[in-house]
Amino acid sequence: MRVLITGAAGFIGSHLCDRFLAEGHDVIGMDNLITGAMRNIAHLTEHPNFTFIHHNVTQHIHIDGTLDAILHFASPASPVDYLKLPIQTLKVGALGTHNTLGLARAKSARYLLASTSEIYGDPLVHPQPETYVGNVDAIGPRGVYDEAKRFAEAMTMAYHRAHGLDTRIVRIFNTYGPRMRLNDGRVVPNFIAQALRGEPLTVYGDGKQTRSFQYIDDLIEGVYRLLHSAYTQPVNIGTPFEKSILEFAEIVNELTGNSAGIIFKDERIQGDPQTRRPDTTRARTLLKWEPRVDLYDGLRRTIAYFREVL
Ligand code: UDP
Repeated sequence: MRVLITGAAGFIGSHLCDRFLAEGHDVIGMDNLITGAMRNIAHLTEHPNFTFIHHNVTQHIHIDGTLDAILHFASPASPVDYLKLPIQTLKVGALGTHNTLGLARAKSARYLLASTSEIYGDPLVHPQPETYVGNVDAIGPRGVYDEAKRFAEAMTMAYHRAHGLDTRIVRIFNTYGPRMRLNDGRVVPNFIAQALRGEPLTVYGDGKQTRSFQYIDDLIEGVYRLLHSAYTQPVNIGTPFEKSILEFAEIVNELTGNSAGIIFKDERIQGDPQTRRPDTTRARTLLKWEPRVDLYDGLRRTIAYFREVL
């Protein structure tokens, strides 16, 4: 296959490029580098089957030759990033999705949209099945990401229904691993960087809010299986390893041997979900997908990476 991956220099995008290249496919990676970084794909630039194009997908996209699949992963994804880049976040989810869908149609390519657990907002149903329509505040600070992704899903289904485009939607839950940006503001890089510096971990609010963390390799496997399946409805990919942020901080301190403890900060962003855990019945039954990497193992690998880059 010849595939286009947008957001190729990002955390998830770069791992996707690795996977498609390892499977023998030709990969065109596209990124405008506003939150991605060339060092994530530096090891690929000499690869004979890899081409990098520096481009903003909110502008018209031109690709010579055929394309078999497009995976649209470009977007700021950390709450701190999308609060700083609210208009870019809305544009990449809306205009970027429209452009990549149009390109998929022109090339008769299969299309996979990276969506998110954020489309459930601050959920009133727990755990979250794909049939749950969510509880999103459109005009709250997180709305720029949530609504962009909700629009992106709506647009993807419209191309599927109106044009018969072969589409997939993955709803990605909290994912961590090597190549996350140290200063992207999300809980995993924040906690690990603080722990490795021997500082107290900054728990926002009372730390009772929960997240379910998955290791990057499990997500990539789920995305790869979904693309190769025939299923066109959204599919959650995430783990049942739900932890409160306070418990999570204690685990990071334990694994890094950090004795500086925890401090509480009043920095929760308005609309910060109180709970989050996927119902993964679809992924398990339709894709035969299960998370394989346990939280402690995944965190050990991630800590080793952050030790190197610090
Ligand atoms: N959080 C925290 N300390 C930090 C960073 C984040 O307690 O230094 C909390 C944040 O308030 C949220 C959770 O960790 O409840 C996950 O935040 P993150 O930014 O990783 O992503 P989200 O899951 O909210 O999109």
